[in-house]
Amino acid sequence: MRRVLIIGASVAGVSAADALREAGFDGSIVLAGAEPHAPYDRPPLSKQALSVDDTRDGHFPLRGDEHYRNQQFELLLGKAASRLDTDRQVVTFDDGDEVPFDDLVIATGCRANTLITENGEPLPVLRTLDDARWLAKAASTYTQAILIGAGFIGLEVAAGLRRRGIDVTVLETAPTPFQHSLGPELADWLCGYHAAQGVRVIAGVQVARVRGAPGRYEVVLADGRVLEAGIVLAGIGVRPNTEWLLGSAVPHNEVGVLCSASGNTGLAGIFAAGDVAATHHAPSRRVMRIEHWTHSVEQGRAAARHMLLGEVTQLTPYFWTDQHDRKLQGYGRRQPGDSMRVVEGDLDSGEFVALFGANEHFHGVIASNRPRSLRRYRKLLEENASWSQALGLAEANVAG
Ligand SMILES: Cc1cc2nc3c(=O)[nH]c(=O)nc-3n(C[C@H](O)[C@H](O)[C@H](O)COP(=O)(O)OP(=O)(O)OC[C@H]3O[C@@H](n4cnc5c(N)ncnc54)[C@H](O)[C@@H]3O)c2cc1C
Repeated sequence: MRRVLIIGASVAGVSAADALREAGFDGSIVLAGAEPHAPYDRPPLSKQALSVDDTRDGHFPLRGDEHYRNQQFELLLGKAASRLDTDRQVVTFDDGDEVPFDDLVIATGCRANTLITENGEPLPVLRTLDDARWLAKAASTYTQAILIGAGFIGLEVAAGLRRRGIDVTVLETAPTPFQHSLGPELADWLCGYHAAQGVRVIAGVQVARVRGAPGRYEVVLADGRVLEAGIVLAGIGVRPNTEWLLGSAVPHNEVGVLCSASGNTGLAGIFAAGDVAATHHAPSRRVMRIEHWTHSVEQGRAAARHMLLGEVTQLTPYFWTDQHDRKLQGYGRRQPGDSMRVVEGDLDSGEFVALFGANEHFHGVIASNRPRSLRRYRKLLEENASWSQALGLAEANVAG
């Protein structure tokens, strides 16, 4: 019987498995993951997991247990792949087990970078369910928190901790956080919005070292200032889980596994999907990872359909993030040098739709608390519409 082996039991891997069954695959599907937990959802870890009112009590399963039984997926949990032999078509696991495959999906995602304290201990991060459970417990114990690095996830955590009455400071090396991804006006708005909710953002600073342990950390800045907190969390980016591919024929580098939008690595029967995948992004002329949930679902599904049906799909990156009571959603990406135009609402109210583009190219749209307007612009991005077409649609919407 033909066997598809999926390494990485998270949203990209599970989506690939589901799409294989939906497309009529009746062979064996083996889903192997390094974590001991059944596949779970990561976005709630920086949102609901921090809320004292959440009824799920730290459980965020992606699917119910019966789903894996009904779909006849073989789940291998707590098993980390350590080696891939593409000639023999075999994956070796850290316990020495070998699993042969006909087709392979690489969906091992990323892990969080961290900083090491003076005692040689890694600072806490937020990537896994275990991290989130630790943080929720710490949030009910300590009253001050420092987040090192201002990314979307870090700021979601800042919002969650503030809601619990914790004093929160965010430290960021860049002079203006988010300037690169959002541009100056939106970046200012986001930082101002957090400040208005009581989050202290200190930008343009370097962390020299961190002393102590949970409950009594000291963060020493390069300018000599010393900040104290019970919780210090590192939110300084991620790196792809590709070490197990070393020595294999799979094309990969420090960005991730090199593949097409539908996960094709160029090796027969071997696909990649989700946060570990690195694809060419035409507007930025760069190979990059798209580290977003919906993209991981879509790429997992696209990889399955490419494998089974030969279908080739193009994907339009989509993200969302919850910042206090604002839901930001976006398609496409702002490019350096882009102009920004607010075409609905305004930044002062915190409810708006903003478009990015330059030189007749429309590159992206970000909406805050305006989900319905957003979808119209997705279609334009898929059609490679021009900047003036995007602005034309915006004017027509206002007029209509
Ligand atoms: C706290 C948090 C909040 C987020 N919030 C949002 C949000 O609001 N919006 C949004 O769009 N995105 C959000 N994301 C991003 C989103 O969750 C990711 O894009 C998505 O989880 C990527 O899925 P994945 O399956 O590719 O990889 P991952 O979810 O990273 O899963 C990869 C899995 O592979 C396993 N693995 C690694 N190496 C091996 C190995 N050698 N052998 C076997 N298994 C291995 C890992 O243990 C892991 O379970 C958030 C992420 C985090 C951490």
